[in-house]
Amino acid sequence: MKFLLTIVLLSILSLSHAYEPEAAVGRIGFSGCHASYKQSLKALHRDLAEKVFELNHVQEGIRKYSLNWVLNNYIRPDGRRSSTRFQYKTHAATYVKFHDLLVTGLGKMGTKVRGGYSYYCRTERDQRCAGGGGTIAYVLNLGPYTFNRIYLCPEFWKGDRNEQLSTLFHELSHLAADTDHYFGSIFNDEGMIQQTNDAYFYEKMMHNELSWVLERNSWAFLWMKPRENPPIPLSIPERGHWCRHPDHMGMTETL
Ligand SMILES: [Zn+2]
Repeated sequence: MKFLLTIVLLSILSLSHAYEPEAAVGRIGFSGCHASYKQSLKALHRDLAEKVFELNHVQEGIRKYSLNWVLNNYIRPDGRRSSTRFQYKTHAATYVKFHDLLVTGLGKMGTKVRGGYSYYCRTERDQRCAGGGGTIAYVLNLGPYTFNRIYLCPEFWKGDRNEQLSTLFHELSHLAADTDHYFGSIFNDEGMIQQTNDAYFYEKMMHNELSWVLERNSWAFLWMKPRENPPIPLSIPERGHWCRHPDHMGMTETL
């Protein structure tokens, strides 16, 4: 009886720290990783798994931020209204779709963490690592088949711990949810939906509050804050060419 009570107490204690017990994390394999790399990866994977479980938590994770929640807790209290600036006639439908796709994507990442996969540590001799552009890590597909692995290039080990975690989160989104890279604009319905398939968008969730990521990447654009002081109309019509460097056109900055 005493033994059983200890077990119950221990599980309550461990649940208070993690969103799911550590036992929920599936087996991870290693290939070509030195002992010290293996050690680091085990610790990184624990943090990664915890984050993925947190994002999938029924009350606190992505499911919390339904359209109703956003309307009641953000848009109305903040005096926001549907954006006319970007001509969103379908802002609510766009958000519902955006949110559904994120629930699905993050859900797949959770399933993958529970199912387990392997880390393959690669050397400079790996052509995919050596090929220009500073490849940090990759996931490999053979036709429709995806190897259940994340390959880590030597470049991966040059980053600090936070960068490594972001990379692992990014790669996990490729592996589990078949995400891609999207460099287009998010200032329209289609772009906002496209984002939910972008590994660079997912990786922002590793180190930022989910509500902050959502606010910056959807809420604030779909529902604008009315201007407090309307701009004074110019007596002379404005003319000119407002040119921007193409690099600054997108919303692909690293947060
Ligand atoms: Zn990628």
